[in-house]
Amino acid sequence: MRRLLVTGGAGFIGVNFVRYWREHHPDDGIVVLDALTYAGNRASLAGLEDADGFRFVHDDIRNRSLVEDLMVDEAIDTIVHFAAESHVDRSIAGPDAFLETNVLGTHALLKAAKAVWLDRGTGREHRFHHISTDEVYGSLHWDDPAFSETTPYAPNSPYSASKAASDHLVRAYHHTYGLDVTTTNCSNNYGPYQFPEKLIPLFLVNILRGLPLPVYGDGKNVRDWLFVEDHCRAIDLVLTSGGSGEVYNVGGKCERSNLELVDALCAAADRVLGGSPDLLSAFPDAPQARGEHARDLITFVEDRPGHDRRYAIDTSKIEARLGHEPRVLLAEGLERTIHWYLDNVAWWEALIHDR
Ligand code: NAD
Repeated sequence: MRRLLVTGGAGFIGVNFVRYWREHHPDDGIVVLDALTYAGNRASLAGLEDADGFRFVHDDIRNRSLVEDLMVDEAIDTIVHFAAESHVDRSIAGPDAFLETNVLGTHALLKAAKAVWLDRGTGREHRFHHISTDEVYGSLHWDDPAFSETTPYAPNSPYSASKAASDHLVRAYHHTYGLDVTTTNCSNNYGPYQFPEKLIPLFLVNILRGLPLPVYGDGKNVRDWLFVEDHCRAIDLVLTSGGSGEVYNVGGKCERSNLELVDALCAAADRVLGGSPDLLSAFPDAPQARGEHARDLITFVEDRPGHDRRYAIDTSKIEARLGHEPRVLLAEGLERTIHWYLDNVAWWEALIHDR
């Protein structure tokens, strides 16, 4: 039985991970530590908070003494570190919060982990798993090979620079102090519970409300898309069988230009909404309710400064060593995501009204 401290467990991937973990490891204890920034949503943990073996703590990862106390009181042996400022556009408008949480926050956690697991000599088996991003590797040209674990770091945004710094700190705590760490660098996740400022949920909600779909630049920037459940399974494999000090890239084997992705989302939304008179009357502003197509809402807007052209992930290491392959193809993942947002309107409407 493990006892997990999940930071950022009220955010998009964290919530999916906590739900995944409870389903697959029901006997393990989970403490979620989350500062509930704009991206954290306690409502996403509905149904978990009353469960045995689950505890939510509303606090900041930079509060090192609190983290140390939590780790001791709850006999934590595993930290799964999701907490971060995660939106590139926000990092361009205001980088400071990114350095505070992603760099100093990660360092505070590492110091707490070292103090409790190493310095006090509990001898407890432990693991600090750090969630990072493919964006630390910079931008690829069309014909460049995909990012592997040995691709040199070349972060281009304040967000990716802060994540790169945190990756280096995690690595350094392993090499210098012997902390048992692993890191995963993953591509763009999508799925349930994603805050509607990121591309897929934003565009989906805009389709349901009949609002424009603002595509940056020429829409040709390429990303790899990973269904969040496939990501959670990868983290499980790394926690269970990953080697100490190792880094694993996690991808969806699904490179698409932004325009191709938006086209696929629009087509899926047309299919799901167009086939349901009930949905058409529930969402009268959606283009399908007027016999039009979601694609008609696409508009092109000025590109984001420094917008990376292409990310692609070489997944051969995690495939060969841990047997991880993505299972959910884009068409299925988009349909599942659309159905989740249709079934959870109150969840996203509350976030839109709060903004
Ligand atoms: P998110 O923005 O949805 O959630 C982040 C969570 O961290 C929120 O619940 C927020 O309240 C919490 N948080 C922020 N600052 C905190 C602090 N100082 N103390 C405690 N909690 C704090 O992010 P996400 O999309 O779920 O991403 C999770 C992790 O995965 C991040 O580290 C991100 O860099 C990484 N990642 C995400 C993606 C993606 O596509 N979403 C891709 C690659 C990597």
